[in-house]
Amino acid sequence: MVAMSEQWLEKSKKYLWLPFTQMKDYEENPLVIESGEGIFLKDISGKTYYDGYSSLWLNVHGHRKKEMDEAIRKQLERIAHSTLLGAANIPAIELAEKLIEWTPPNLTRVFYSDSGAESVEIALKMAFQYWHNLGETQKQKFVTLTNGYHGDTVGAISVGSIDIFHTVYHPLMFTSYKAPFPMVYRHPSNDPNVVRDEALAQLEALFEQHHEEIAAMIVEAIVQGAGGMHIMPKGYLKGVEQLCRKYNILLIVDEVATGFGRTGKRFAVEHENVSPDIMTVAKGITGGYLPIAATLTTEAIYEAFYGDYCELKTFFHGHSYTGNQLGCAAALANIALFEKERLIEQVEEKAAFVAEQLATFTELKHVGDVRQLGLMCGIELVRDRETNEPYPWTERIGYQTTLKMRELGMLTRPLGDVIVFMPPLTSAIADLEAMISIMREAIVATTER
Ligand code: PMP
Repeated sequence: MVAMSEQWLEKSKKYLWLPFTQMKDYEENPLVIESGEGIFLKDISGKTYYDGYSSLWLNVHGHRKKEMDEAIRKQLERIAHSTLLGAANIPAIELAEKLIEWTPPNLTRVFYSDSGAESVEIALKMAFQYWHNLGETQKQKFVTLTNGYHGDTVGAISVGSIDIFHTVYHPLMFTSYKAPFPMVYRHPSNDPNVVRDEALAQLEALFEQHHEEIAAMIVEAIVQGAGGMHIMPKGYLKGVEQLCRKYNILLIVDEVATGFGRTGKRFAVEHENVSPDIMTVAKGITGGYLPIAATLTTEAIYEAFYGDYCELKTFFHGHSYTGNQLGCAAALANIALFEKERLIEQVEEKAAFVAEQLATFTELKHVGDVRQLGLMCGIELVRDRETNEPYPWTERIGYQTTLKMRELGMLTRPLGDVIVFMPPLTSAIADLEAMISIMREAIVATTER
């Protein structure tokens, strides 16, 4: 008789089409998760793994957190879901009030959705229609940063610029202006201030020429995640905010990956005291439990949509599950735990420990760069550390390294040859140490073989 675990593996290969996955790879290395407990995931064979990527950058308190489970159960006793189209619900109201308390003070309105990409679509449509409603119909374009990522729907990819993901869809996308991301790694000067000033000057030149037709600029908050964990030099995001104000351009900050403590602040904009006109949040909002996202905005933008129905100012956008009560209840429990456990302060402490440990990685022969903000880390593997020459992408060194990590008992997904380390925020110091040790062993085994 075929073991039960074999059956799940076979059926997973037979029936599923996994996201962002070459199924030929999956067939060679299938994995079916059976359960989770704390910062561990268990597969159907009973093997356990550290959840080194927080189940794709979203888990906060670990799996099966008692308070989270209870909050969802309690909500289930009332109702699982009712629509938010034309009708509010109590958890959605409570969460909106809490989000407004948690985010920069100029953000006073919450528009819900179900994923990060949707929160971005909403931000783009909201910015576009804001100008339309004001009668400034020439403001239709968006500015994005090179190497940016904002999700996978058609609008979100139109403001993304990671070639390997996006090139095939070019004929389907609307065009956006691209300004250079201030990439310190591999920049000839190696001086973050020079990189920042150069990038801001290029952005200003673009604004000067095109500001009349630009509706908004969209940027990830301080860290470009999917683009390889690149961190903006200090002062860059503040500079972007100032230029947006100067040229009458809305600023959309995407906090989908960075929000909810990931970078050591509630939101990464706090590192630079930036007040976006529109901010997107998802992932960590429910502690990694349920699909809720939100787009927050200012009263000025909200008011541009307010009026008699026949004025046609309404924001005609919505999804079936938007404002889902179970999701909102999970988000409220998540935020309550942040406050009760003083989690943000803990992230700062843990990040300092991780920084100390990861600093030793720069001794490894094929580690070109270690980048970290809070518990958001990327380790870039290179063929030649002296020249920063990358590996040929066909070698798939990042992927091979993460397969080795899997064997050693830790899960993550690479971004090309950048190894992502984003553990749940509640990981204990000893666990962080163990995960880092697995990463080190896998990197050495793969790159120095
Ligand atoms: N924006 C950013 C910055 C992201 O990192 C992501 C997902 N990694 C998204 C948007 C899209 O979020 P989702 O996967 O929930 O659609």
